[in-house]
Amino acid sequence: MKFLKQVGDYAKDSFQAAKFIGQGLAVTFDHMGRRPVTVQYPYEKLIPSERYRGRIHFEFDKCISCEVCVRVCPINLPVVDWEFNKEQKKKKLNHYSIDFGVCIFCGNCVEYCPTNCLSMTEEYELSAYDRHELNYDSVALGRLPEKVTLDPMVQPIRELAYLPKGVTEPHDLPKGSQRAGRHPEDILEELEQEKAKRQKASADSENN
Ligand code: SF4
Ligand code: SF4
Repeated sequence: MKFLKQVGDYAKDSFQAAKFIGQGLAVTFDHMGRRPVTVQYPYEKLIPSERYRGRIHFEFDKCISCEVCVRVCPINLPVVDWEFNKEQKKKKLNHYSIDFGVCIFCGNCVEYCPTNCLSMTEEYELSAYDRHELNYDSVALGRLPEKVTLDPMVQPIRELAYLPKGVTEPHDLPKGSQRAGRHPEDILEELEQEKAKRQKASADSENN
């Protein structure tokens, strides 16, 4: 009897082991037909979405030292160092800095700046050995990051945010296909065309 029970247990265990192996292989085979969700960073990089809130860009010449950015910042982060120029009777900006070791990239400062001298960029590679290196001064803030799409060392990967409407498989698209959103240069070109049209229309009306 004991021998028969041992054989029965052995058969039951073998059946369970075969079932678990089958389940594991089913998961493996299921994933063989899917595209990988990983990218070979840093050789491949995802193109950030259009409204991505990366490192802030600052244009020194546009800043009027109003300190609105400091007031709307949840942690009063931007440092606006200015002095009053008595001759010109206006503020003179000496230095501007933002510490990205502390910034939460909420974008409030960008949203409320009256002169649009702040903007969010696509830059997200901000790692440094020393946290003090993350305190960007006006020169570092004035640097524009290298675009993923223009970097010859990088294979840009388009993700869902950049796919045309209805397309969900980025690897199926032929190279050079139009993305869903528009590049800033496309918008500028459109504005230029509209401006040229308006100028032509006003010139025509003056001639008639
Ligand atoms: S992004 Fe937000 S946290 Fe960072 S400086 Fe601007 S307002 Fe402050
Ligand atoms: S809100 Fe804009 S213009 Fe005003 S201090 Fe800040 S960066 Fe300069």
